Amino acid sequence: MRIFILVDMEGISGICRSTQVTPGTADYAAARTFLTRDVNACVQGCFEGGATEVVVRDAHWAGFNLLWDDLDPRARYVQGRSLRERIPGIADCSGLILLGYHAMAGTAAAILEHTMSSAQWQNLWMNGKKAGEVALDAGMAGDRGVPTIMVSGDDKLCREARALLPGVVAVQVKEGLDVEGGILLTADEAHRRIRNGAARAVRKCRAIKPHKVRKPVTLRLELVSRGVVPVARENIKVIDGRTFEVKARTVEEALNMLL
Ligand SMILES: [Zn+2]
Repeated sequence: MRIFILVDMEGISGICRSTQVTPGTADYAAARTFLTRDVNACVQGCFEGGATEVVVRDAHWAGFNLLWDDLDPRARYVQGRSLRERIPGIADCSGLILLGYHAMAGTAAAILEHTMSSAQWQNLWMNGKKAGEVALDAGMAGDRGVPTIMVSGDDKLCREARALLPGVVAVQVKEGLDVEGGILLTADEAHRRIRNGAARAVRKCRAIKPHKVRKPVTLRLELVSRGVVPVARENIKVIDGRTFEVKARTVEEALNMLL
């Protein structure tokens, strides 16, 4: 049983400030340790739950955030770019875990909420419904028949995931008070929850259904700035000066049209 873990940074335990997820800052250097330790707890839990193979993809920023020499040696690690394929090899996996994720753009009192880019993306809708990164990644895995079995992050991220993915194991590692503020657990308690959650998710992964998105997929993107909406053409519809829609056969194809 192969499990794929996509790792973002904003929802990692111990992180509640944007400098912690921004390469080049002093806060970031320390936060990489928090990230690596959440990943190791998750990998450990996956194996305890019955996984025989675990693949981890570093999906924050350019994908070079994990501390390579501190990683659990039993997993394989994908870093950097991957030919526009966001979850390489997902079709051969039994389950997807979204570790260290954050709530969608605009969520109140959610730590470091955004959808893909806080500087450029104001709001995203998938088939008419507001969507964040959980919906995008779960939809991408669902297109390949793979269920999203666990998420970790703050309470708002957990609420968003539970509403979208029945049966998902939602591991809350902190409580959001503001975009840059929250109530944190101790490291030991956060790691215990992640490890137990991952084991539970892997054990029940056959009981969780893949998240199926209606086809064709329409993604509507409202941008932060004026003057950058693309010109209308086949499968691209301009809604207004900051908003446009793309239509595609899969979630990944639609997302790639926005990037
Ligand atoms: Zn991120």
